[in-house]
Amino acid sequence: MKAVLLVVNRKKILNYTGLTLEEWNKRYPNIGMDEIACKCCGILNFDLEQLDRIQSSRTKYGKPYHFNSGCRCLSHNTEVKGNSKSEHMCSPNRKATALDIRCINQKDRIEMVRAMLDSNVSHFVIYTTEEPVSPVNRFIHTDKGSAGIGIAVYR
Ligand SMILES: [Zn+2]
Ligand SMILES: [Zn+2]
Repeated sequence: MKAVLLVVNRKKILNYTGLTLEEWNKRYPNIGMDEIACKCCGILNFDLEQLDRIQSSRTKYGKPYHFNSGCRCLSHNTEVKGNSKSEHMCSPNRKATALDIRCINQKDRIEMVRAMLDSNVSHFVIYTTEEPVSPVNRFIHTDKGSAGIGIAVYR
């Protein structure tokens, strides 16, 4: 697949999804291309089946999703000390399946996980780190579950 260069909210996107911006915004009204493209280089190659599940869960949840992390190129994954087999990683030939969605309290966490289970999202890692208290270290990692279906919690 060839990349199509786009600019969304002043961010440069290297779009490998095969969708036009118009098609994307219609299919994913609550997930901006700019929100999940790689933070350093703008590469966007994400598993659309998984993204359909995330959008469905967002619709059921009914409140905004704030994405801490989505697609990562190899160098960005290294920079943020991501797992070397991280499902956040993408390239022109590899689709990411992982999204980190900010979630800072227990009520939202339960509602979000319920909406995700109802949308066939199969794998979560819930980070509830209290120190330092920051929204950045309280989030739910979701991916396609190639590492196994389940829920893990980190405190
Ligand atoms: Zn990058
Ligand atoms: Zn993650």
